[in-house]
Amino acid sequence: MNIILFGPPGAGKGTQAIQIAKKFNLHKISTGDMLRDEIKNNTDLGIKIKSRMDGGNLVSDEIIMNLVNNILGNKKYSNSLIFDGCPRNLIQAEELDSLLIKYNQKISLVFNIDVNKDIVIKRILGRIICTNCGLTFNKMLEPASIDNHECDKKYLKKRSDDNEKVIASRFETYVAQTLPLLQYYTNQKILKKIDGTGQICEINAKIASIMASLETWHFKLYSYK
Ligand code: ADP
Repeated sequence: MNIILFGPPGAGKGTQAIQIAKKFNLHKISTGDMLRDEIKNNTDLGIKIKSRMDGGNLVSDEIIMNLVNNILGNKKYSNSLIFDGCPRNLIQAEELDSLLIKYNQKISLVFNIDVNKDIVIKRILGRIICTNCGLTFNKMLEPASIDNHECDKKYLKKRSDDNEKVIASRFETYVAQTLPLLQYYTNQKILKKIDGTGQICEINAKIASIMASLETWHFKLYSYK
């Protein structure tokens, strides 16, 4: 099954994606992480995109869809992807659909993780990420401790675009370019709204139960054929 996690920056998509991937044996594809890796490794692509990302603007559709094409074309990931942070606009959504047809796959569910701007800002300002294991914590809301994190503290870093100035423009970009996609996926009848303000485990349980019911349904359909 391929799914999309949709929501504003700071909605908790990355955190949910890691847990859902483990539970359902799926692979997380985070375009943001892939782009940050390019910057970290100082590649030509990394140098090209750094200023756009630091300003809270979207990277070009061509760059993004190239990355997505490489993943979708890899048989290892066939029908087992969680999209986190992509598609981000209508062009990407339409191109993703064309690629899915090309590789004989589909998106089964899109989860809209719903959180308002005030919460998002609080979460992003406190956010710290472990550059070793990829887990996300929050200095105020959910600090890293020996109970929830195994790596050394030295790996805990703030993202360069997680500051007050850039958050505003990331949120504006989301409202102007990404939010209209809700209608696109409503029309496809695969959109599920999830309240993103509760505990991480509650949100996770809601997503997992919807996915599990769809899997059971597919299983029944298949076994009665
Ligand atoms: P967040 O959802 O917290 O804003 P991401 O890690 O998904 O963070 O993305 C960080 C930045 O990477 C974005 O602000 C944008 O510049 C770039 N980016 C990530 N995914 C895409 C995409 N699908 N299209 C264009 N730009 C993207």
